[in-house]
Amino acid sequence: MNVLVTGGAGYIGSHAVQRLLRDGHTVTVLDNLHRGHAQAVLPPAELIVGEVGDTMLVEKTLTDRKIDCVMHFAALAYVGESVEDPLWYYRNNTLQSINLISAIDRVGVQKMVFSSTCATYGEPAEDQLPLRETCPQHPISPYGRSKLAIEHVLFDYARACELKGKPFGFAAPRYFNVAGADRSGVLGEDHTPETHLIPVVLQAALGLRDGVKLFGTDYLTPDGTCIRDYVHVEDLVDAHVLLMDAIQPGDRRVYNLGIGRGYSVREIIESAKRVSGVDFDVEEVPRREGDPPSLYAEPSKISRELGWKAQISDVDEVVASAYHWYREHPKGYE
Ligand code: UDP
Repeated sequence: MNVLVTGGAGYIGSHAVQRLLRDGHTVTVLDNLHRGHAQAVLPPAELIVGEVGDTMLVEKTLTDRKIDCVMHFAALAYVGESVEDPLWYYRNNTLQSINLISAIDRVGVQKMVFSSTCATYGEPAEDQLPLRETCPQHPISPYGRSKLAIEHVLFDYARACELKGKPFGFAAPRYFNVAGADRSGVLGEDHTPETHLIPVVLQAALGLRDGVKLFGTDYLTPDGTCIRDYVHVEDLVDAHVLLMDAIQPGDRRVYNLGIGRGYSVREIIESAKRVSGVDFDVEEVPRREGDPPSLYAEPSKISRELGWKAQISDVDEVVASAYHWYREHPKGYE
């Protein structure tokens, strides 16, 4: 297939490109390189530097490359940052995505995979855990809302296509916390700024930053710190390939992508200390706004329907995978 990967120079997108190339697809990447890295776009994928919301550029790309499927990864993805600058998040994640979908509509691309997030669930009640896809979506951060808005747009757009007899279907995988790096050691997670827990603790372990701040120790969780479901990036992109193949006209598919169990922030810190053998400093500080106490997936829907299951579910394995990349690339892609 001819696949357009938006955000293909970013962390998850670059791993998806690698996987698509391995499967023999023809890949075009659209990335503004704001947070992505040109070096992360593996040949022979073609890199087009531009905005997802540039409808003229996107329409031309979709037409010229005869794109069969758009995988839309490009987004800003930090909860804390979205609280500080919500307009930026809505412009970038919501408005630009609507422009992208408009271009898809005009050209008549039939398949789309949209990166959604467990942040769309907000702060689920205890009895909703582990989270099923049917859990009510009440996001508590601008990031979560900027993504949920696009799920709604896609549902409405796909329904309108169905009514018109226009072939279009989409899948919106809702990611839990994606971590790790590719097995071959070429790709990894390189964000500036970096605020995600696993990279931050590993950078502390490697002496690349002074210790770690632990946000909130007074949550109603067993050890008082937040619980998340850490899914390995290669497992995650495997799911995308399955989704792309499965999408049929009229499809409006949503799936939780996680391993199905949660780890606390303290458990991740302990894991990083075990994996690296380094006892770095941890400072306990107040909660970070926008962080729900507990999010972990009930991933059986995608397992039942498409046979996907995370191959890596041991937290030390996920952390070790990321650790090896940081050890080999202390300056990221630089
Ligand atoms: N976290 C932390 N210190 C950090 C970064 C993150 O204590 O330096 C916590 C954060 O408050 C959350 C969890 O780790 O409870 C996962 O945060 P991350 O930013 O990795 O992912 P998110 O769940 O926000 O998408």
